[in-house]
Amino acid sequence: MMRLQKFLAAAGVASRRKSEEYIKDGRVKLNGETVSEMGISVDEEKDIVEFDGKKVTMEEKNVYILLNKPVGYVTTAKDQFGRKTVLDLIDGVSERVYPVGRLDYDTEGLLLLTNDGELTYKLTHPKHRIEKTYIAHIEGVPSEDEMKRFCGGLKIEDYVTSRAEIEIIRKKGKESVVKIVIGEGRNRQVRKMCACIGHEVKKLKRIKEGNIELGDVKCGQWRFLSDEEIASLKN
Ligand code: URA
Repeated sequence: MMRLQKFLAAAGVASRRKSEEYIKDGRVKLNGETVSEMGISVDEEKDIVEFDGKKVTMEEKNVYILLNKPVGYVTTAKDQFGRKTVLDLIDGVSERVYPVGRLDYDTEGLLLLTNDGELTYKLTHPKHRIEKTYIAHIEGVPSEDEMKRFCGGLKIEDYVTSRAEIEIIRKKGKESVVKIVIGEGRNRQVRKMCACIGHEVKKLKRIKEGNIELGDVKCGQWRFLSDEEIASLKN
């Protein structure tokens, strides 16, 4: 049960205060009767609420967000050690969104968040192999042979990685910067793959997922996805 004005606000009709005005103006009906008193309670499951003759439902609209995650944030909704979570960075969004998949505490870059459970399921299901692109700063410079092994499949713990790509972008003293594309998303997979060919990851950033690119969204900032981007994820 909840107060009618709270119900109207939660269903996205208007703010609570504005909803009170609508009730006063006689624009709201409860089970077919115009509501005349303030503070009446409704049962969200059973009662039928109408605003200007249209049924009001609690269904949330779907929202799709791209965040440039900084290092030092967890991608779970709550952290047992009280660390900051990516949800702390999403302000001004009333829908309850959650991250699509994960990025490590010490990884930065593109993270999608949504309240669309169906899309989350699809994007995180291994069979769909959504490609993810990373820029990694690694120790040393990988040899041709190491890069071949990286792309062809590495035995990591109890699994063998599937087809991947690695390309050297630049060499920087004792480090190199590489671009990596993988279609999987196992726990710390890029770090483990690089370690497996003998090149520890120093810094890791995701720049692309499917057709969605991080672009110029600043670290710690977010934006809504465009309709085209949403359509491309759904396809
Ligand atoms: N691979 C990793 O090792 N870490 C991430 O955060 C993402 C992919």
